[in-house]
Amino acid sequence: MRSIIIGGGVAGLAMTTALGALPHFSESTILERRPTDAPSGMGFLLMPNGLSALRELAPTIDWSDAGHWIERASLRAADGSILCEHALEPALCVSRTRFLSQLRTTALGGGRARILEGTRVTQRTTLPADGACGDRVQSVMLETGEALDGELFFGCDGAQSRFRKMLFPKAELSDAAIHEIVSIADAPELARELGTTFRKYHDPRGGLAVGMLAEGHGRVVWFVQMDAARYRVSDTSGSSLAAFVDATLDGWAADVIEALSTTDFHQSHLWKTRDLPPLSALHLGNAVLLGDAAHACLPFTSQGANSALVDAVVLARLLRDVRTAGGASEAFAEYTRLRRPNHRRLFLEGRRLRAAFLAPVASSGPALPLVA
Ligand SMILES: Cc1cc2nc3c(=O)[nH]c(=O)nc-3n(C[C@H](O)[C@H](O)[C@H](O)COP(=O)(O)OP(=O)(O)OC[C@H]3O[C@@H](n4cnc5c(N)ncnc54)[C@H](O)[C@@H]3O)c2cc1C
Repeated sequence: MRSIIIGGGVAGLAMTTALGALPHFSESTILERRPTDAPSGMGFLLMPNGLSALRELAPTIDWSDAGHWIERASLRAADGSILCEHALEPALCVSRTRFLSQLRTTALGGGRARILEGTRVTQRTTLPADGACGDRVQSVMLETGEALDGELFFGCDGAQSRFRKMLFPKAELSDAAIHEIVSIADAPELARELGTTFRKYHDPRGGLAVGMLAEGHGRVVWFVQMDAARYRVSDTSGSSLAAFVDATLDGWAADVIEALSTTDFHQSHLWKTRDLPPLSALHLGNAVLLGDAAHACLPFTSQGANSALVDAVVLARLLRDVRTAGGASEAFAEYTRLRRPNHRRLFLEGRRLRAAFLAPVASSGPALPLVA
């Protein structure tokens, strides 16, 4: 069967890797709007569920090369004093660019997949319902006007998914109540001091925090998380972001100040974080949604990339013996049944952690910003 994968991020590359191991999936085409080698973000944590999905997708690859292990969380006040500490099940902090590059090589390695980059999907066309598959997608339209036919369609185009809009026009992302400035510092000494600990510093009044973790190669991924209603960033140029964090974090712990002073803010980006209220279905006929397109969740869960990897593994298991588009449609319905409860749980946990973040820090300490 010929598959079209819309989006070449974590979900799209993981799904392509998974399809490459299935006997009846002859050819996959990934459509990715970003040009080759465009910057693709900073870093994220691969949690135990994501790591286990990766082992199933590509058992021979040692993913630890893409990052640095994290085994402890230290939650602190803005002045650096420790509020509470937790041991973590080991998670891997990866550079998004390095991880995606390794996953891309894996996805394309089997010779049954190709990627068209700098290609934005703009609309789909459908066939009339045929009983077996309901509302079937026949092709997707690219911005060049070219239509690309396929038998199965995998919507992996991220939180702002255009493909989701085509399948489920009423689904809407929430407003962005939390903004994050995500940066990377070239700070070997700070990276050494952090070691395998994720540190997070909190304004005791709530609504403002700084997280940092070593990503390997002397680099530290760090982010400022803030209540968008209280902290407004109107200009996202590097110099304006630098001036904003300098003023906002004046007097914070020495580690925070060191991260600021070793950062090239021209590479920083402002991430307006939004979540998606759970969808009632993740598929329509021969089309299915994965990753953020299916279940964008708040960054407090640290589950965006991990859930995308698990989605691909679950779908691949269900598609293993499928030979027809009708059979795939049934597999997609089962995928909806299996994955919806997890998406709902992540949505609710994200909202719970967001409420805790916006409130003054509790006497028991801040909430751990991870969901297993
Ligand atoms: C640039 C970027 C930076 C990020 N930085 C962080 C971070 O620092 N920390 C963190 O925890 N999470 C970050 N995230 C979110 C996190 O990576 C996602 O939760 C996770 O990767 C889910 O993967 P996904 O494949 O579903 O979505 P994404 O990783 O968002 O991938 C979706 C892909 O689809 C492509 N696409 C979108 N629309 C179209 C279209 N119409 N046609 C073709 N292609 C399309 C996009 O270019 C993108 O490559 C970032 C996401 C992005 C896109």
